[in-house]
Amino acid sequence: MQDSIALVPTMGALHAGHLELIRRARELSETVIVSIFVNPLQFESAADLSKYPRDLAGDTEKAIAAGATKVWAPNYNEVYPGEIAKISAGAIGEIFEGRHRTGHFDGVLTVVSRLFDYAKPDYAIFGEKDFQQLFIIKKWVKENNFPIDIVSVPTVRDSDGLALSSRNIQLTPAGRRAALIISQALRTGNKEAMLQTLASEPDFQVDYAEVIDEETFELAPPGSQSARGIIAGWVNGLRLIDNMRMGSDQ
Ligand code: AMP
Repeated sequence: MQDSIALVPTMGALHAGHLELIRRARELSETVIVSIFVNPLQFESAADLSKYPRDLAGDTEKAIAAGATKVWAPNYNEVYPGEIAKISAGAIGEIFEGRHRTGHFDGVLTVVSRLFDYAKPDYAIFGEKDFQQLFIIKKWVKENNFPIDIVSVPTVRDSDGLALSSRNIQLTPAGRRAALIISQALRTGNKEAMLQTLASEPDFQVDYAEVIDEETFELAPPGSQSARGIIAGWVNGLRLIDNMRMGSDQ
């Protein structure tokens, strides 16, 4: 635990999910850096970027209370001082989330690489909520032999099952009710039931709903012991994603 550094990269608007990551970081290291940077490279549209919620003062307070020893909110020029050396996520960056959000995972890896360069963490903590992101980061760190432990934390949910997300505050009450269909669908445990459940909610538009194998991120073969449902779609103008290990509620 001594002398190690744990980094928790976030885009701010911190909620209980982020705070769980910070608490986990604090179990691992005495120095816990929480970065807050809304990374333009991972947004496809300027409109989506500009409406992303921001609350630096509130975030700083929450992060410190959860165990952060440093809240680091760099500006664009600090993160990207010159020409940007983009990092490609490769083929895995072009399926599911990547197919619906062109260049998203290249943007994620590019910012994570800059944050790692600056913070030089021994541990970096990420949520299972963004399961494809977690998979891609783990793969990239492994392939490049970076001496960083990628630590994951299960998705934190509201008591009604909705996965916490910074975007949830933008849901209308009706939208929030409709969004519950996502975790309900994931709990059914198989693709057909998942699709049927989603189809029962007219206010939810599916981008994708699949069952993948956690080890490969390919479609899960029948009988897979590591099958995970992944869902993305739209409700009241917001794009939400969630995932769950099939047969569990996590
Ligand atoms: P974001 O600020 O949305 O970029 O998320 C920062 C980190 O928090 C990422 O590693 C996310 O996967 C993680 N995260 C977001 N929501 C949750 C949640 N509900 N439970 C656990 N981790 C989460």
